[in-house]
Amino acid sequence: QGSPLWAAIDEALVGWLLPPDPVLAEAEAAARAAGLPEIQVSALQGRLLEVLARAIGARRVLEIGTLFGYSAICLARALPPEGRLVTLEVEPRHAELARANVARAGLADRVEVRLGRALDLLPALERELGARSVDLCFIDADKPSNAEYFGWARRLVRPGGLVVVDNVVRHGRILEEGEATPDVAGTRALFDAVARAEGVVASVLQTVGAKGHDGLLVAVLPPA
Ligand code: SAM
Repeated sequence: QGSPLWAAIDEALVGWLLPPDPVLAEAEAAARAAGLPEIQVSALQGRLLEVLARAIGARRVLEIGTLFGYSAICLARALPPEGRLVTLEVEPRHAELARANVARAGLADRVEVRLGRALDLLPALERELGARSVDLCFIDADKPSNAEYFGWARRLVRPGGLVVVDNVVRHGRILEEGEATPDVAGTRALFDAVARAEGVVASVLQTVGAKGHDGLLVAVLPPA
């Protein structure tokens, strides 16, 4: 999982910049106890999501891939009391624990965890919320579907809104020669879709830290 130095720096930065966070610590402990995979964003990445949502004054957020609710809690903290975050999760055990963690975080009034395959849930969500009604979409589920998720994000996110996609570097595997794994093929298809999307301005921040070497794509949709 990369250099011990990256992890040590991550830990030091968390100590400097992030106040102790019993809510997220409890959520992680509950996930560990339940044997869920520990593939949530890091503490600093979670805080970065909160920073981005606050920076654009987000009131409506869509997340694809909930796990046990770690990034959902980070994003929901940026919302005003009347704000809303909908997060989509295919695994019932994950969704159930996420709901419990969100409730313990005191955010149940603004976070809804929806159970099902994201691609099955998105059409109804568009009818319900309306096109171009979401301020920020965070994509962090099955990587082979990333290009399709980006297509949905373009329909659902408002002009000038943000689309953020996690795990787009994958320890450098996106450059590997030979037959691509479905995850790598999905990431490359995402880059193609972003590059083709007229008016979308995007960048990738390569990340190192406790979670190894990866990357976060951040895209802003064109203004109205
Ligand atoms: N965003 C979470 C966080 O940082 O706290 C981590 C999400 S984890 C990397 C990916 C999640 O996506 C898993 O819980 C997995 O069950 C879920 N998932 C995978 N395929 C999915 C699909 N087709 N629809 C909805 N969720 C899916």
